[in-house]
Amino acid sequence: MKHKLLALTLALTAVLTAAGCAGKPEKTNESFAAMDTFMQLDVYGDKAAAGQIRERITALESLLSSTDADACICRLNAAGSATVDEVTADVLAQSLALCESTDGALDITVYPLIKEWGFISKDYHVPAQERLDALLPLTDYRAVRQNGCSVTLPKGAEIDLGAVAKGYAADEAVKILDDSVCKSAILNLGGTVVAYGGKTGGEPWKVGVANPQNSADYIGYVSVKDKIIATSGSYERCFEENGTVYSHIINPQTGVPVSNGIESVTIIADNGMRSDGLSTALFVMGLEKAQAYHRAHGGFDYVILTDDGKAHVTPGIADSFTLSDNSTYDVSVSS
Ligand code: ADP
Ligand code: MG
Repeated sequence: MKHKLLALTLALTAVLTAAGCAGKPEKTNESFAAMDTFMQLDVYGDKAAAGQIRERITALESLLSSTDADACICRLNAAGSATVDEVTADVLAQSLALCESTDGALDITVYPLIKEWGFISKDYHVPAQERLDALLPLTDYRAVRQNGCSVTLPKGAEIDLGAVAKGYAADEAVKILDDSVCKSAILNLGGTVVAYGGKTGGEPWKVGVANPQNSADYIGYVSVKDKIIATSGSYERCFEENGTVYSHIINPQTGVPVSNGIESVTIIADNGMRSDGLSTALFVMGLEKAQAYHRAHGGFDYVILTDDGKAHVTPGIADSFTLSDNSTYDVSVSS
């Protein structure tokens, strides 16, 4: 979570410098807790948009949460079958397409496993293998039946949109900004960052990539305009048992938190769902499969930090990625 604030701080520093000049568009900001994280919106030149985005995100949360008993997804999980509203149906359809495209590295039916490891109750523990064996068959996005707003889950299966909801929120925020007079905004939706337009002076936004060893620090930044940047890190929401650290990203094939040498995956894309979903999915895939996925699909860039001290970047972002002076990472441009 701290690195998410850092991304913001870095962006903010840039904003404050730009906003000091006379004649610059006025800033409106909103800070609030939503989707189990902290959000900060800085919108320039439009007074209403930040408030509208906040309302929109709050409304989305009350549809997409797996823990709020009144939320549409929570009711679907409890009943096993439901007619959902059109927004939830849209999120589900886009999510299932990402699960398919990533061959199940992203799997939104991972919720029973997430609960078993204690990530919801905060009673973290390594489950017995029999428990994992019992829950693994429930983890299969292919078994979700969606026909428009009509959704049916196999018995016992439950959906978790935690890997994509902030990305969807980012896309909704961009729609609101597109309909406003704002030309410049930086939104930090709990680590999923919307860099809308450039800074008020026209320069790109600088969005920090956290240092996995010390998430109060960053190892570098990407300079971007009109992008959505999402990061999945092994150091987020993790716990330690008997000297092993378990991250909150689960391999849907094994039911066990991912441990594959990746420290974090940052995705830079035009679309928030894609950015957020792929940050989780490429984390699960591991470096080689992630690189192969990028070669096969394209349409996004990444910064992948690995525990051998490398920062793997795509050619498309290589020139816009700047390492901090004190960073010990070596940049390696993926082919
Ligand atoms: P964060 O929520 O910290 O930004 P992510 O976007 O990577 O990080 O989402 C992680 C969340 O997604 C987890 O907390 C869990 O709810 C869910 N999740 C974990 N593993 C998977 C997976 N393989 N596929 C889909 N969702 C997952
Ligand atoms: Mg994600």
